[in-house]
Amino acid sequence: MDSTAVKQLARECGADIVGVTSMDRFEGAPKQMDPRYIFPDAKAMLVMGFRILRGTLRGVEEGTFFVNYSSMGYAAINQIIQPMVLWHFCRRLEDDGYEAVPIPNIFAWSNTVTTVQPDKSKIGDPRPEFSRPVRPDLPAPDVFFSLRIAAFCAGLGEIGWSKMFITPQFGPRVRLAAVLTDMPLDPDPLYDGPPLCDRCMLCARDCSTQAISKTESIKTTIAGRELEWSDIDYMKCSMGFCGASPEYNPFMITEEDRVGFTTPTYGRAQQYKVPPQYGYGRGLEGARGCIRACMEHLTQQGKLTNRFKNPFRVRKPWKLTDDNHADP
Ligand code: SF4
Ligand code: SF4
Repeated sequence: MDSTAVKQLARECGADIVGVTSMDRFEGAPKQMDPRYIFPDAKAMLVMGFRILRGTLRGVEEGTFFVNYSSMGYAAINQIIQPMVLWHFCRRLEDDGYEAVPIPNIFAWSNTVTTVQPDKSKIGDPRPEFSRPVRPDLPAPDVFFSLRIAAFCAGLGEIGWSKMFITPQFGPRVRLAAVLTDMPLDPDPLYDGPPLCDRCMLCARDCSTQAISKTESIKTTIAGRELEWSDIDYMKCSMGFCGASPEYNPFMITEEDRVGFTTPTYGRAQQYKVPPQYGYGRGLEGARGCIRACMEHLTQQGKLTNRFKNPFRVRKPWKLTDDNHADP
């Protein structure tokens, strides 16, 4: 199979979009975040995008049905759909005699998923208390790499100011997965279409916990291109995403709820009152800024190819006030 056939296979298996990157585009990545350490003999990485169905955001947008985004819009994609698609896809590559490492959007026990640590250490910082390298020249397990950077390298789109990956098909309404393989494949060019993120800052304005800075940014060079995104406060995002803001969480009624929904670490808050779905993730806030506001903006600009007969936002966004949010 050549690159075209392999990408067609990925779509037949259930991916919405797919691109290929060569491994040299990861040159310069921090050791703990370099996917080449996972499969040193890999020749290419396929990156697949799975749309978040717009309908899974409807209940949160209306303020009436929150379980759907957490389950069908979040955990089910990462925990069920991606593993199934990757399983079928990788079997076909192995039938052709090539190894294929399936990597859905789960890095649950990564050594470097430090985004929610109270010490505010950053992704990529080693955590010697967690694990140690099996040889001196290797990173400590588990290596974590950014699927968003991988998707950029595979030409699927841009990283927006919100640090969400934005595609010309779905905007930020997409979840990513990857396959490392020793099958030689031609890489896709980096995305060179019309710019998607125009720095409108609506993601930052609508974020329920102001986790997205409007002024502070992270700059980096990837595959020869200068990239920049907001310096996200991951602790704020992790809490906000799980319902830390009383204005956007109708399940926060009492003082006990306030403590439950806002107690670090995020894993504890995630277990409170409304449990995670499929054992992972609880998006009570419905990605108010980084997905919904951004998606609406890009749609109004006519930038997305996945078009709908009717608009997403048809009512003024809801917000709880003291009047309708009082301790009983
Ligand atoms: S909301 Fe605006 S600034 Fe934020 S990522 Fe989307 S397009 Fe960029
Ligand atoms: S998920 Fe919610 S809290 Fe996190 S950055 Fe997006 S809008 Fe902000």
